Amino acid sequence: MSTVSAYAATSAVDPLTRTTITRRDVGPHDVAFDIHFAGICHSDIHTVRAEWGKVKYPLVPGHEIAGIVTEVGSEVSKFTVGDRVGVGCFVDSCRECDYCRAGEEQYCNNPGMVGTYNGVGRDGQPTQGGYSGAIVVDENYVLRVPDAISLADAAPLLCAGITTYSPLRHWNAGPGTRVAVIGLGGLGHLAVKLAVALGADVTVLSQSLKKMEDGLRLGASEYHATSDRDTFKKLRGSFDLILNTVSANLDLGAYLGLLKLDGTLVELGMPEHPMEVPAPALIFGRRRLSGSLIGGIAETQEMLDFCAEHGVTPEIEVIEPEYINEAYERVVASDVRYRFVIDTQSLR
Ligand code: NAP
Ligand code: ZN
Ligand code: ZN
Repeated sequence: MSTVSAYAATSAVDPLTRTTITRRDVGPHDVAFDIHFAGICHSDIHTVRAEWGKVKYPLVPGHEIAGIVTEVGSEVSKFTVGDRVGVGCFVDSCRECDYCRAGEEQYCNNPGMVGTYNGVGRDGQPTQGGYSGAIVVDENYVLRVPDAISLADAAPLLCAGITTYSPLRHWNAGPGTRVAVIGLGGLGHLAVKLAVALGADVTVLSQSLKKMEDGLRLGASEYHATSDRDTFKKLRGSFDLILNTVSANLDLGAYLGLLKLDGTLVELGMPEHPMEVPAPALIFGRRRLSGSLIGGIAETQEMLDFCAEHGVTPEIEVIEPEYINEAYERVVASDVRYRFVIDTQSLR
């Protein structure tokens, strides 16, 4: 075992503080790497604050992790010391169920993927995430960061990037399709960039027009404020696909009305409380309400390579670990442009 510095939550209400955690010895199939950058995802905040249910503290969040390999186990074949790598939202799964075999490890049902934090590893120990100086992960759950992408930019792609790329691909966003993205935050701004890179026509639906200039610069052709009820009249029946990236409850019925016949609204945001869905909003227009959870390992690698090829990178604000608690407040207040990324140098 080795020890490493980290930032951990000790309860649902107290600020995160600096601490020391242990990492397991490097097993035959493991890759150890120094963490250089870790993104702050709104899911970190939902989890830490126990909005998704009970949590075991202390908890080190962070599932957008990028760094450089320092040691590999004797059986490791995919990575060597010095490689630029990343880890996303999970670090293991059963590897045997139909979904794992199909490369959809995030949907493993035997009993489920092992979260990068707040999970339990094969060794029976709680998993701890990326707000730390180093990590040890089985090579099958490690991604390769393409040379064209900096480690700081790679971090947010490992959750926000794949979470938006996967449904865009699944629902065939591309030339000739009209896509709307609700919420211009971490997920939302990457959804815009990725949908544009895939060739779709993209509209941003944000609470206000405050970030309109940014939205258009990212490639959206239209930008509307959802606080203006006229938006829902003007855009009725407009979209093939809507990605909802909002972390709070929305009036889903109103947004479903923006879909064309047979259109699909994909729920990506995971608010604390259930949302109501009026049946007529689905029935009139034969509309679909779907959901999507991050993406599998192969698709995550495909997304990283796609981003390298198409020059898709997140817009980030790099922070020191001491700023994590303030960053959380700003994320909750929708005051993030557009992803906080922790420089973890002082934790190594
Ligand atoms: P984020 O950076 O905070 O972005 C969320 C955006 O939603 C905000 O920037 C804001 O955009 C909008 N918003 C926030 N509160 C709102 C409210 N009360 N009413 C209307 N709009 C509101 O969060 P994120 O990191 O992108 O994550 C978004 C959600 O996705 C979270 O719930 C997270 O847990 C979830 N998530 C899911 C997956 C998955 O696999 N499905 C993966 C990662 C994250 P505007 O200011 O533009 O309105
Ligand atoms: Zn996330
Ligand atoms: Zn499985």
